[in-house]
Amino acid sequence: MQKYKIAIVGSGIIGMTLALQLSAINHLTITLFGKKPKYSEFKTTAILATSFDIYKQLLDLNKSHPQISKLKKFKIIDELKSKKKIIDFDAAEINLDSFAYNIRDNFLADRLHKEIKNNASIIFKNEFIEGLEDNLSKTILNTSDGAAEFDLVIGADGRNSIIRELAAINYSKKTYKESILVTEINHSEPNNNTSFEIHRNGSLLTSVPTTNKKSAIVMIDSAEKIYNIDPDNLNKIIHDGLSPYLGNTNVNNKYSIFPSETIHAEKLYRNRVMLVGESAHVIPPIGAQGLNLGLRDIITFYNLLSDSNAKDPGAKTILSSYNNMRWLDIYKRYKSVNLLYQSMMNYNIGYSALRNIGFLTLNKSRRVRNILLTEGLSFNK
Ligand SMILES: Cc1cc2nc3c(=O)[nH]c(=O)nc-3n(C[C@H](O)[C@H](O)[C@H](O)COP(=O)(O)OP(=O)(O)OC[C@H]3O[C@@H](n4cnc5c(N)ncnc54)[C@H](O)[C@@H]3O)c2cc1C
Repeated sequence: MQKYKIAIVGSGIIGMTLALQLSAINHLTITLFGKKPKYSEFKTTAILATSFDIYKQLLDLNKSHPQISKLKKFKIIDELKSKKKIIDFDAAEINLDSFAYNIRDNFLADRLHKEIKNNASIIFKNEFIEGLEDNLSKTILNTSDGAAEFDLVIGADGRNSIIRELAAINYSKKTYKESILVTEINHSEPNNNTSFEIHRNGSLLTSVPTTNKKSAIVMIDSAEKIYNIDPDNLNKIIHDGLSPYLGNTNVNNKYSIFPSETIHAEKLYRNRVMLVGESAHVIPPIGAQGLNLGLRDIITFYNLLSDSNAKDPGAKTILSSYNNMRWLDIYKRYKSVNLLYQSMMNYNIGYSALRNIGFLTLNKSRRVRNILLTEGLSFNK
């Protein structure tokens, strides 16, 4: 059987997950380029219940592992007006044990890296790629061993993707005026597997369980405020927002800051180059969608190749099918998350009316809640 050569550029969570998933297909040889990633110690990711199975299958990771926290409930608290509005969601209302499983990025990356090292079908090259030439019949990467030819090069190299740049795949990018701070808190009351999301005028404060008396914090606010924050100030903001639900809060003195931006690639491939994960799409961190979108890129591409009777993975028919199958899901998430983001961050009459209607309907209509939850979890993708 003819073997086809795939290069994956970028060994972040998405690149490593993709390498492991594709290594199960016999007619492929996989080379993964990149260095072992090091994420912020506070960065956690909520993996939706509908995506988690990929890690059960690839890493034998159990949902009850002590490093994983179940997210069974979430509470949205709207503090935009003097009277608070609260909506509660419970996974039980859609017959699930949990909406998502929260995991530290560094823990997941370590597990993936170990598995890759033990996988004889994956060649791991500890290097960064700087050059690429591609056309319809071949793609050449400039590597430390010289020029290497592949049937397909996959850019899994994140939001500043060099592969997207070198393959001249057009994209739009918007940097919001806010920044994102992540840290972790201890709290005196148990979180009972609940995530809290506090919407204030122009800011968002979210807690996500890491253990019963610890939660990861994601705070979005104006860049000026985030960059000028000091530990006392941070403690007060978090305590004011979350103490009614979590008791006394104690914030870690350290934190990490990320830009708030969105990226949308016009197309997911060109010639024999394709994109997965954040090289193709970046959305603000609300509603646990970013990595989950990337995981669905991987599952779609894997299913396409395993159903294709050992076909050339860089063939136009395969890549255009991948593009068509992923386009709507990515577009819908991109549009809805950005709309939600703007409605939280901008205080104007239009967005305020939208938010009020949303709150009223969600509190009253079981059907609308069900639609929102099943759509948010991408049940039918
Ligand atoms: C604060 C925050 C909270 C979030 N929370 C959630 C959540 O709860 N749920 C969710 O689903 N998503 C969440 N996300 C989104 C999620 O973190 C990202 O979608 C995901 O980490 C992207 O993974 P990636 O592998 O595509 O990119 P990255 O993690 O950026 O990995 C890209 C890798 O490519 C490497 N690389 C770059 N250039 C080259 C090169 N030239 N050669 C070789 N390697 C290269 C980099 O070193 C890096 O290791 C959150 C994001 C943020 C910022």
